[in-house]
Amino acid sequence: MQNFWDQRYAQRVKLMKSSAIRDLLKLTEQPEIISFAGGLPAPDVFPIEQVDAASHKVLQERGAQALQYGPSEGYGPLLELIARTASRDGLPITPENVFITSGSQQGLDFIGRLLVNPGDLVLVESPTYMGALQALAPYGAEYVTIPSDEHGMITSSLEEVLATRKPKLMYVLPNFQNPAGVTMSLERRRQLVELAIRYEIPIIEDDPYSQLRFEGEHLPSLLTLENELRGTEEDTYRGYIIQLNTFSKVLAPGLRVAWMIAAPELVRKLVQSKQGADLQTASLNQMIAYELMRDGFIERHIPLIRRTYRERRDVMLNAMDEHFPACIHWTRPEGGMFLWITLPEGMNATELLREAVKENVAFVPGASFHAEGGVQNTLRLSFSNATPERIREGIARLGRVFHKAVAA
Ligand code: PMP
Repeated sequence: MQNFWDQRYAQRVKLMKSSAIRDLLKLTEQPEIISFAGGLPAPDVFPIEQVDAASHKVLQERGAQALQYGPSEGYGPLLELIARTASRDGLPITPENVFITSGSQQGLDFIGRLLVNPGDLVLVESPTYMGALQALAPYGAEYVTIPSDEHGMITSSLEEVLATRKPKLMYVLPNFQNPAGVTMSLERRRQLVELAIRYEIPIIEDDPYSQLRFEGEHLPSLLTLENELRGTEEDTYRGYIIQLNTFSKVLAPGLRVAWMIAAPELVRKLVQSKQGADLQTASLNQMIAYELMRDGFIERHIPLIRRTYRERRDVMLNAMDEHFPACIHWTRPEGGMFLWITLPEGMNATELLREAVKENVAFVPGASFHAEGGVQNTLRLSFSNATPERIREGIARLGRVFHKAVAA
């Protein structure tokens, strides 16, 4: 029986990668391990009472609707509210531009389904969000990588790549990038968007963290810049950007409610995809998210998330300054949930994870965030989930592991 299923998988299953470090990371779920591995929000900031009250209200007032099937594009009042909020800074976003997904992760899968043929080139930053690589790979995406530094994707080499290799899509995380924590500068945003318009290449702007800025100035989204640069008088957005947003980081990931902003033609195709995938995102969950957004709760709640994560970032950075060897480098994010470590050439983060787990501390080795492969000396730490005390202790343990490895 062992080969039974192996002989029956579709071609695309060969393109799905199972992560080599999964078993190791499973170990890290044990309570004695201080894990900086998962990209988990802090449970301390989950608004349990407010979600409870909102679900009570929804069930009392519109219970039958909340428990019934609903439109595939999403709950109408939520589409309208998102469109109104997104058009605050002058963007022509209408409800026809908005599409609700069961998490942004589903949005990435749908983009693959709608736009990626086997062999199509998708341009990504290096490193980039592993979940996007996993979502697009089964559709046959082949990745072209552009290196990034502390100001995000290095756009100076982009024109040459776009002119010669003609990617079908670009996938970019401009704010507090997962995994590196870096933010793309305004100049580079402009340059990227100008090139996207000139070469007519859509950009997936994945932006779950923009509201989690702890300091510094908010920068305009690629969507805003692109709309300005095209300079059209459209009353409904019809440009090259597909923007992904989510309630996962500002409310709760367990609700699985997210949204996309895109041209209406694309939204209509996405609706067809949704019908084949899961019909719709859970009505009750959309209505809960709607209630909490409509009455301003989410706006009021975000400062608490920012304060909590900012403190944890500071605790982590200070502990790293104290405990890490001087030959190790890391990013200093202005927001979000992650920072990124570069070890000296020749060190291997996956091997170090084995040592770290023995010391009861964990991280994610960076290899699977580099689509080009072959990079072994990077790793991601998440500062959002562990308490400040556990962060201090965890970084001290990690410092011991690094010192030992450097001395070896
Ligand atoms: N994109 C990025 C960059 C993320 O970090 C995440 C969450 N880890 C997602 C998408 C998926 O988020 P969601 O919970 O909305 O599916």
